[in-house]
Amino acid sequence: MATAAKAVEAADPRFDQALTFSTLPEWYVVGALCCKCHRTGWLDRYDLARRFGKRASLVNLSPRLRCVVCNQKPGNKFVIARMKR
Ligand SMILES: [Zn+2]
Repeated sequence: MATAAKAVEAADPRFDQALTFSTLPEWYVVGALCCKCHRTGWLDRYDLARRFGKRASLVNLSPRLRCVVCNQKPGNKFVIARMKR
């Protein structure tokens, strides 16, 4: 996941509630923001799409996010960011 983090610009505030892996443009990466320690961990969106389905809503999946640093789970959110080219 560290490789994705380097390829990313600042997190994009345009986050649509209805966003799914299939509607997210392919030059975007998906990350998880911890509400407690504010760490952002960048995820493999294609792996997530395989596991939960391309039409899975990111908002609906956010309760599954757990912070790898402080183990916080409730309140964590997905973030999206455009990849650097
Ligand atoms: Zn955390």
